[in-house]
Amino acid sequence: MHVHDSLVELMGNTPLVRLRKVTAGHVPEGAAGPQVLAKVEYFNPGGSVKDRIAVRMIDAAEASGELPPGGTIVEPTSGNTGVGLAIVAQERGYRCVFVCPDKVAKDKIDVLRAYGAEVVVCPTAVSPEHPDSYYSVSDRLAADIPGAWKPNQYTNPNNPVSHYETTGPELWEQTEGRITHFVAGIGTGGTISGTGRYLKEVSGGRVRIIGADPEGSVYSGGSGRPYLTEGVGEDIWPETYDRDICDEVIAVSDRDSFVMTRRLAREDAMLVGGSCGMAVVAALRVAERAGPDDVIVVLLPDGGRGYLSKIFNDEWMADYGFLTPSTEEARVGEVL
Ligand code: PMP
Repeated sequence: MHVHDSLVELMGNTPLVRLRKVTAGHVPEGAAGPQVLAKVEYFNPGGSVKDRIAVRMIDAAEASGELPPGGTIVEPTSGNTGVGLAIVAQERGYRCVFVCPDKVAKDKIDVLRAYGAEVVVCPTAVSPEHPDSYYSVSDRLAADIPGAWKPNQYTNPNNPVSHYETTGPELWEQTEGRITHFVAGIGTGGTISGTGRYLKEVSGGRVRIIGADPEGSVYSGGSGRPYLTEGVGEDIWPETYDRDICDEVIAVSDRDSFVMTRRLAREDAMLVGGSCGMAVVAALRVAERAGPDDVIVVLLPDGGRGYLSKIFNDEWMADYGFLTPSTEEARVGEVL
């Protein structure tokens, strides 16, 4: 029988799918390249790229003894990382306590609770040093709960290592070594740093690594001013990001990211999140100046169902001025 013992076995090995429609106007029509290929991470059992780091961080903590049998995983997370951790925790009998600020959508908290995790909600409107802030509360819980372990995806070296060991080799194999450019958003930086390092090493430095970043974030030279694209960009530099890995970082506006996210669903049938639209905008900018033999891979971190009330909601888009007759009717070149 063809049976898997657990969903954890199905983490990683996601498909590489050609972008066919949204590329129009950016690459020449017909057979000529460059090719733009998407690594579709919503095929992971938890629905995002974060499954990869969850299993690797837990494996390492088990091996080092930091996470004892029956222990408790405590992490400040509101989304994808929590889902990945919860899936692995269930398989292996750990308790999960996640801490998130009260600005997080109720749907996201409900998803974590549905997997059996406990979620502690903290006020957003306090400084990080305040005892009620979600940073302080998660530190306190990790100290007070016996057998507690905090993965801390922003400092844990196993975050980038998981991508060095899985995402990078998968892309090299799937493209038969023909990949020339890798484009990904930067949140913790784990995806781009680990995948990028592997691809640079295996290709002798030939593969170009391009970060995609929301306008305003520090990675593309911003001041840390707010933006709406979730999961990417920072106002500080996390340890998990290798500052030397990117050959280039392309800043993308929220509007361009969200318009492209909607187009991916309507034109290429890929219902994905806002950071995916952002990464595709950057990939298409790379494609415009690429050669016919180039193979550009863009990583799409998660699916779009978590964003139905925002990016896929016309009123929400209109409230921010993102949805105008011109955005809906515009040809690709006009909106990018
Ligand atoms: N997009 C989404 C939706 C994410 O949740 C994340 C992870 N924070 C990223 C992109 C960026 O990935 P990384 O943390 O590996 O840089």
